[in-house]
Amino acid sequence: MRILRKAAVSWAGAVLLETPSNPLLRLIDIEATVARANPCGAPVIVDNTAATPFNQRPFDFGADWVVHSTSKYLNSHSDMIGGCLLRRDRLSAMHRTIHKNLGGTVNALDAWLVLRGLRAFALRMEAHNRNGQAVAEWLLSRPKVARVHYPGLSSYPQAELFRRQMKHGGALISFELAGGETAACRFLDRIGLILHAVSLGGMESLATRPETSSHRGMTSEARLRAGVSDSLIRLSVGVEALEDIFADLEQAITE
Ligand SMILES: *Cc1c(COP(=O)(O)O)cnc(C)c1O
Repeated sequence: MRILRKAAVSWAGAVLLETPSNPLLRLIDIEATVARANPCGAPVIVDNTAATPFNQRPFDFGADWVVHSTSKYLNSHSDMIGGCLLRRDRLSAMHRTIHKNLGGTVNALDAWLVLRGLRAFALRMEAHNRNGQAVAEWLLSRPKVARVHYPGLSSYPQAELFRRQMKHGGALISFELAGGETAACRFLDRIGLILHAVSLGGMESLATRPETSSHRGMTSEARLRAGVSDSLIRLSVGVEALEDIFADLEQAITE
């Protein structure tokens, strides 16, 4: 873990972190971050969208705030956009005034769509976790796959932190194909059941290439330094039957 230096947080209003990170699924130690940030007066805000409350509970590690995109796993039907902000302590009168004046309030239909999605949230997360773990292990066993990034793998570099902080590995995976950029482009052209589309957390499996989507604004040097190679593919594994996902992956990685 990168050390959050005291000098770096002494002037910060807050520390905002996302764990696991997108797209390399690296973990940040929430408890260690809180221990360094809070004494400097900086509250810690955790974006828990990728992990979900089913797999990771940031308040248990001392986080002050949790933010979620509700458009992803909480809603799961990929048919609305929204977010939520949660505080470990009660909201103060000042927070309520800011909320009222800035108007960050979800409309009735979108709120209802998330509540509908939440009714089967635990069931879906069990399926996402099962499929995510199985797909990561399957990818790892393929000679055409050079690297797999997934916290639930026993070979995962931050396995100890994973066990301490997360309950399951989730359904986001990134991997690199041995055939480089050509193989990655071919993979995206060929997938059928898995859709080539942005976003994550819905019931359908989705794949993107960060080089041409989330990270396209970076220079290639900065992107490679950040560990995002030309052949990196990010998968959001859905809840489809595993044999269908495997069949689609197999034909898409075959040369
Ligand atoms: C998608 C996403 C967001 C943004 O949410 P929207 O609902 O698309 O506005 C923020 N954080 C993470 C980790 C996300 O995956």
